[in-house]
Amino acid sequence: MARRTFSAVAWSAALAGAVTTTLVAAGTIGVGDATAGALLVLTAAVLTAGLAHRIGWRGPAAAALVTTLLFLARWGSTHGFDARLTEILLTAPFTVMIVVLVATTSRRLADRAASVIADGLIVGLGAWIIVWVLLVEPASDPTDGTWFVYGALDSVGDAVSVLRAVVLAAATVVVMLLAILLFSGASNTAIGFGAAAVLGCVAAAIVRAVSLRDDVSLDPRWFDALLLGAALAGAAALFHPSVRTITAGRRVRISSPLMARLTATTAALIAPVIALAGTDAPSAGDRIVRIASSVVLAVAVMTRVVQSVRANASTQDELVRSALTDSLTGLPNRTLMLRHIDTALRSSWGTPRQPTVLFIDVDRFKAINDSLGHATGDDVLTTVASRLLASVPDHAVVGRISGDEFVVLDDRTETAAQSVMLAEKLLDAFREPVGGSQPDMFVTASIGVAHAPSGMDLSADALMRHADTAMYRAKDAGRNCIAVFDDSMVERVTQRLDIETALYRALERGEVHLVHQPIVDVDLGLVVGFEALMRWRREGAPVSPAEFIPVAEDTGTIVPLGTWALRDALARLRGWIDDGTCKPSTTMSVNVSPRQLNDPQFVHTVVDALATTRVSADQLWLEVTEGVMITEPDQALATLRRLESLGVRIAVDDFGTGYSSLSLLQRFPIHCVKIDRTFVQRLDDPGTRTIVRTIVAMAGSLSAEVVAEGVETTGQLSLLASLGCSRVQGYLIGAPVGVADIPAVVADLEDRESFAARINPARA
Ligand code: C2E
Ligand code: MG
Ligand code: MG
Repeated sequence: MARRTFSAVAWSAALAGAVTTTLVAAGTIGVGDATAGALLVLTAAVLTAGLAHRIGWRGPAAAALVTTLLFLARWGSTHGFDARLTEILLTAPFTVMIVVLVATTSRRLADRAASVIADGLIVGLGAWIIVWVLLVEPASDPTDGTWFVYGALDSVGDAVSVLRAVVLAAATVVVMLLAILLFSGASNTAIGFGAAAVLGCVAAAIVRAVSLRDDVSLDPRWFDALLLGAALAGAAALFHPSVRTITAGRRVRISSPLMARLTATTAALIAPVIALAGTDAPSAGDRIVRIASSVVLAVAVMTRVVQSVRANASTQDELVRSALTDSLTGLPNRTLMLRHIDTALRSSWGTPRQPTVLFIDVDRFKAINDSLGHATGDDVLTTVASRLLASVPDHAVVGRISGDEFVVLDDRTETAAQSVMLAEKLLDAFREPVGGSQPDMFVTASIGVAHAPSGMDLSADALMRHADTAMYRAKDAGRNCIAVFDDSMVERVTQRLDIETALYRALERGEVHLVHQPIVDVDLGLVVGFEALMRWRREGAPVSPAEFIPVAEDTGTIVPLGTWALRDALARLRGWIDDGTCKPSTTMSVNVSPRQLNDPQFVHTVVDALATTRVSADQLWLEVTEGVMITEPDQALATLRRLESLGVRIAVDDFGTGYSSLSLLQRFPIHCVKIDRTFVQRLDDPGTRTIVRTIVAMAGSLSAEVVAEGVETTGQLSLLASLGCSRVQGYLIGAPVGVADIPAVVADLEDRESFAARINPARA
């Protein structure tokens, strides 16, 4: 049956409950018929909950038990049962209710349940004392005992009175627990119906207690009416589909009823005190009950206070811990690591110890996170954390200080060699695949090593920074390696920072310009193109591209710089073609960094630059390095394919220095291979010649052109010619020159005489 049907049945049962209560109270229908009907509905509900909702049998059985006991007590009281038995039959259901409520509350309030239940207990005890003093005790004195029918007291009457007090006290606890459950936000429809049922029972018990007083005449039908209503409300609870989630633990906020709890517990303490103080104990037995009850209440309150203090203390501990540890791995965070390092440095004073700090950064973690998702990223981090823990000596401390950065402190190392050995051991820990959901995934790390030389006053912060600096050196050196800190690194870092800041303003200050290096086809004797190379005159002093390009790439400044270079280079080419300096088919090569290929605007930038300069797309060569294909294959591939579809040509720069595989080369749109200078310089070596011959053949099979870079001698030129490479670039042909010199350079190169002299001085 669908959820909706169950829900409809539940509401019908509830409605039937309300109608039955009214009709029985009004005397319209007989108690007997109504009872039979209600018990039938309840049986169906118990079976539904157990079989259809599959909530197990404990809950439904408890409901059935409570109902049976209540009805049995009701039936027994009119059929000559012993009064004690009737009271026991009435006490038991409330006890069952307390047990069920405690169980439900514990499940639903999880870790907060203990305090809530303890509060319930205090209220129950308080209620017991009041009931004892005000309701039961007076009944034990025949002259004063007007409260209960059992006022004509013998031993049976006493026991009965005590039991009745227990019933009422238990009912108070039930109401208290119920209120907590309802107001804690842990409730749902089934709990609501259940609450109505429980309240019905409590009301019935009170009505009965009152009706038994001599001075009040209440028709027992009221008791029956409430009992029947309660039974049907209980049935509604068991029918309702939300009963399935009753047993599911759910952490809920219980702040809203906190005030109510406080008020209830306070009242449960004050009211008995007033009651005890305001009345005299009529007999020694009563005094004993009063004292015993007060002691139990005091103990309960004390226990609760202790529990609360403990809970506070542990919350505080938890707060301190979470402020000092990383929640994902449970490792110390930066603050705690700095404290550990500080302690290690202090205690190493005057000893041969030179504490080591290792700074470990997981290589390309961002790529893992971005491509495989954060869950995998978290898996990797926890694996790394446990690998590190397993690899360090017991006395060492491992911490995670941010995203993918870990720090290890070994306070017992005495030499730099020991520090490096530890770092190597950690690097080894990355050799195994990380496992988890990606069984074949390997990650590597870059490790910076710094140790505190003895006798040097170094702060914890400084030592950590040194390790960090060394780690960056390890990254620069190609990752997956170790770098040991030395003072020159600080200089480098400062210098780099200095470049970084100055570079931000370089473009707007007009400190950047392009120089152009001709690319010639020796066979044709023509300048076929130019490569645009960036120059930076920082406050008049030239800065090498080898120095500022990597910084620009790291900081992202390469994106605006590259855009500018692209526009400027194409505008120059347009100018030279228009004024006849060079042939209309001359090309312009512009270097592009990986960062630019990852910029979503890049293709647009290229289209825009081509459009404004009216340069044909096939005259633009974009030079990318092999690294682009290896580190970000998908992203780069997508951008390059779009560019290719526009007609733009792609050249692989510095070919042979990276690690690109043939399969990668095949996937990428490549129209030109630029043989790196290092091969050209070693052409005397037969091995190198073989490599160059292979590159030329490979380019041929990819239908790509070949350009040799860095040609400086005529010997290299003729060797390249013999290997089938006629397009060259290098100081022999012409160094990169400023814009003003280009017309002269082109004229000179395209003049047969002077060109022949240049490439073959012997012939001049
Ligand atoms: P690259 O693209 O491989 O440029 C060739 C480099 O070799 C240039 O260095 C050039 O001056 C130099 N060179 C040319 N012929 C010879 C020769 O015969 N012998 C020797 N020893 N060197 C020669 P440069 O201008 O210092 O540029 C270095 C690198 O900086 C470039 O290498 C390129 O990767 C990068 N770069 C330069 N301009 C830009 C740019 O606008 N954007 C980007 N992303 N990178 C650029
Ligand atoms: Mg280049
Ligand atoms: Mg190059």
